[in-house]
Amino acid sequence: MKKNILILVLITASNLLAQEVKFLGEAKPGGILIGRGENIISVQLNKINIQVDESGIFILGFDRDAEGAFQLIIKFKNKKVVSYDYNLEKREYEEQSLHIAGKYVNPPRKMLPKIMNEQKAMKAARADVGKLKSALFLSGFVYPMDSLDVRAVFGSQRILNGKKSNIHNGVDFHAVVGDSVHAISDGIVILAGNNFFYNGNFILLDHGLGLTSVYLHMSKLLVNNGQRVKKGELIGLAGGTGRATGPHLHLGVQWFNKRIDPMSLFEIKF
Ligand SMILES: [Zn+2]
Repeated sequence: MKKNILILVLITASNLLAQEVKFLGEAKPGGILIGRGENIISVQLNKINIQVDESGIFILGFDRDAEGAFQLIIKFKNKKVVSYDYNLEKREYEEQSLHIAGKYVNPPRKMLPKIMNEQKAMKAARADVGKLKSALFLSGFVYPMDSLDVRAVFGSQRILNGKKSNIHNGVDFHAVVGDSVHAISDGIVILAGNNFFYNGNFILLDHGLGLTSVYLHMSKLLVNNGQRVKKGELIGLAGGTGRATGPHLHLGVQWFNKRIDPMSLFEIKF
């Protein structure tokens, strides 16, 4: 009996000494880092507290325009502190010229209340991001389409009908109407939007710890608000609804309000 107690004490002591943190991903503009460690008390990135789930998982996202010094400070139960320094070089993006229906550049007056309501719905859904404190994304990441044909990359500066417009905050995959669209990771549907002016029919998924993915312009949605989905699950059919030049899937990823390159997720192998 005494021997058992001694072993237990030794195991506890060695666990308290464990301060190793393993990382997946890359600290780069539009990239994410997934960290996992034991006995972590707190994680701070540039002095901002980062959520850590029960199993010691945390995720950091670096915005499209992130550059310069980032310091990650991890505090452990045994009072040890470990810091990591990243220096991000500014990433250059290309310009992309598109010609679209005039109403999508200057929406008609009568559409403005609808557009404002849709922005409110999106804002309300995003306000809950961060409340899901388990790392559902640990299931890993898969592509949303069966055949991969990237038509527009992440981050480009859009020129719509000759005028400087928004940044393209996602990746466009070529699709034909009715193609299967899959969840890129385990998640919960936090907004299934129908017939939005810009987004068309779309799904917003929460993958936990602030990571979200959005699938725009679909012809049909196959999941509902609040539904739990698995990595690779069929969530809808591709289309060309909303502001789209033709049928395609726009996949957007964010970590809170930071714009993440979806392609940086697919490089991560668990
Ligand atoms: Zn797009």
